[in-house]
Amino acid sequence: TVVTRFAPSPTGFLHIGGARTALFNWLYARGRGGKFLLRVEDTDRARSTQEATDAILNGLGWLGLDWDGEAVSQAAGADRHAEVARAMLEAGTAYKCFSTQEEIEAFREAARADGRSTLFRSPWRDADPATHPDAPYAIRVKAPREGETVIDDQVQGRVTVKNDQLDDMIVLRSDGTPTYMLAVVVDDHDMGVTHIVRGDDHLMNAARQGLIYRAMGWDEPVMAHIPLIHGEDGKKLSKRHGALGVEEYAAMGYPAQAMRNYLARLGWSHGDDEVFTTEQAIEWFDLDGIGKSPARLDFKKLDHVSGQHIAMMSPDDLLAAIDAWRAAAGEEALSEDTRAALAPALPIVQSRAKKLPDLLPAAHFALTQRPLEIEPKAQKALDVNGRKLLAELTPQLQNASWDRETLEARATEIAEAAGVGLGKIAAPLRAALAGRTATPSVFDMMIVLGREETLARIKEVAT
Ligand code: GLU
Repeated sequence: TVVTRFAPSPTGFLHIGGARTALFNWLYARGRGGKFLLRVEDTDRARSTQEATDAILNGLGWLGLDWDGEAVSQAAGADRHAEVARAMLEAGTAYKCFSTQEEIEAFREAARADGRSTLFRSPWRDADPATHPDAPYAIRVKAPREGETVIDDQVQGRVTVKNDQLDDMIVLRSDGTPTYMLAVVVDDHDMGVTHIVRGDDHLMNAARQGLIYRAMGWDEPVMAHIPLIHGEDGKKLSKRHGALGVEEYAAMGYPAQAMRNYLARLGWSHGDDEVFTTEQAIEWFDLDGIGKSPARLDFKKLDHVSGQHIAMMSPDDLLAAIDAWRAAAGEEALSEDTRAALAPALPIVQSRAKKLPDLLPAAHFALTQRPLEIEPKAQKALDVNGRKLLAELTPQLQNASWDRETLEARATEIAEAAGVGLGKIAAPLRAALAGRTATPSVFDMMIVLGREETLARIKEVAT
């Protein structure tokens, strides 16, 4: 079975690139009945914080990227990592290196002066153990010096690295702590990871990690190194471009399912499909669809995708998404009364919103109460003529069947009889029903408000 993982370093928030990596791994596993695992790479004690771990878990939670089993702490596996380093030593695929930091520095300096490669070549690689001093040592992997290492990458294709570019990297430091490179390989192996999807900034690490797989005789997972995300100007993504934590997207009011859709399209495509559900993404996602060139973050596209999702969502889903947005933005939760008033208005306002916060002003007519506050601009429509038209419409509404077609027909009849366009009656109606000039369709508002409330609001301004 397929096993993927997301392996963030908890040194900051879950940024959009990390979120996309997590999503790709999640989609790949979920579409294949596989497992999606989470490993927190907290071996850098100085830079890792609990706060960052929490932010990452929260970000994944908001995005709905659930992982299987417990989140694994990489630091907790240090003993196991050290054990593997010793196993390599025993097998002769790694060796003890007694070179001190000063000796390594001196080697590099001399190499630099001579114009040679500064890759450290340890004198202990082939030393007779009988000559080993009783001193601290690091364990280094015995990397091949000739030939080349091939990475058969699902996105980048066949990438070859000359072996003389690889050094005998340290797997266990002289203080007994495992290196990051070793920890990643041991954990991926022990967790049964079959597919690694991650940023292409890790491509060279793949070559070095391959040394450890071969030293241990372990199968290498399938690799897919995805191009990093760029900003709208084509430059590497930075804070200025919107390289924000996902919680900031939540706070801006993008629904999680829209964010999943948009992130999936950042570097992956399925024909011309731009807007799709998470279920479709799970069904369609494949490594073949990942592009070789960097995707660009584009807020206009994100707004478009977000608007399409908001238009498709049920009132309950919208209310839940509004709750999540308000919590992320640090805004008070909506009261029960507001929720109850908002729910029936959502179907008539959701098609024009780009983000969740757009829904509230659009649904203002349903949230406000008599006596309505009327904006000066709207007040203008309530002149003598406007009030007269409303007065003529009132008896028509008292017995009309309360559906869109009938209401529109009644209003049209009144307008025709008065020799004016429908707009002349719609404007005072907007003012009466919402107190504003920018509102949803007046007939939609009437349906949501119902006969009694509609007549009460008209009565209030017509007299
Ligand atoms: N911890 C690494 C990072 O956050 C990821 C390592 C990996 O995916 O192998 O960049």
